[in-house]
Amino acid sequence: MKMAMVSISVLFIFILSFQEIIHVAYSSPLPHEDQSLEESTGARFLKQEQENAHEVHCSRERSRAAWKVIEEYLMPFVEEEDYQISTKCRLHPSNDIFRDQEEHKVHVDIYEWRCGYCKKSFRAEKFLDQHFDNRHYSLLNSSYGKCLADLCGALHCDAVMKTKSSKTKCNPAASARNRHFCESLADSCFPVNQGPAASRLNELFLHQFCDAHSCSGKQKPFSRGGRKQKSLFYLASAALTLVLLPVFYLFVYLVQRDMRGRTQELRRISQVEWKKKPS
Ligand SMILES: [Zn+2]
Repeated sequence: MKMAMVSISVLFIFILSFQEIIHVAYSSPLPHEDQSLEESTGARFLKQEQENAHEVHCSRERSRAAWKVIEEYLMPFVEEEDYQISTKCRLHPSNDIFRDQEEHKVHVDIYEWRCGYCKKSFRAEKFLDQHFDNRHYSLLNSSYGKCLADLCGALHCDAVMKTKSSKTKCNPAASARNRHFCESLADSCFPVNQGPAASRLNELFLHQFCDAHSCSGKQKPFSRGGRKQKSLFYLASAALTLVLLPVFYLFVYLVQRDMRGRTQELRRISQVEWKKKPS
């Protein structure tokens, strides 16, 4: 009886330790298994990310949207006027803490984004953004007034961001605040006393961005158009010219042929009449 008890407990211990061995063998990441390697790297990456969570109180995504608005709906007009925006103006590129990092993004192809500082590659832009936050955060100069995302209220960033729900109720107080902020941006970036170009741009800025800050809904943002619309207009007119040019030449050819036919007919008639006359 005692022997049986001992052998059962030995067997039990043996089974337990065997289970432990199997468990350890399956849960530890094996270097030749890509799946588990990838998972463990992912977990490590996440852990590092949490450890390196740096306090930058500025949204990269909204800053990018604000930059997009400036590039598309303001810069074409500033370039046309050959106007130099002052560094005191918050729209100046030096006042965007993410500008340097954004310019160090290399979009190799659809699934490859490369870091311009250390040449590391990523499958998507969001991973490169995370990499910038973790590895190159020291490059971020997060001093006051350098967050482009703060200008989003004035610049209508939601209009270029896909996340916007179109049926948000208009708040008159918020609209008035945004309008006031928008007008102060126009005055600081394009002071009317700085010549005709600045004053024209000041007026444009008010129409392009500030007028739409009202709950009437009469004015749409970017009413003066942007780079994309301009290039679309050129593309459309080029296509129209290409289509109309052959039609025009065909018309000229047909008219000329018709004229030639008529003159030949006239000549034949006159020849016939000339021959008839002597007889
Ligand atoms: Zn890097």
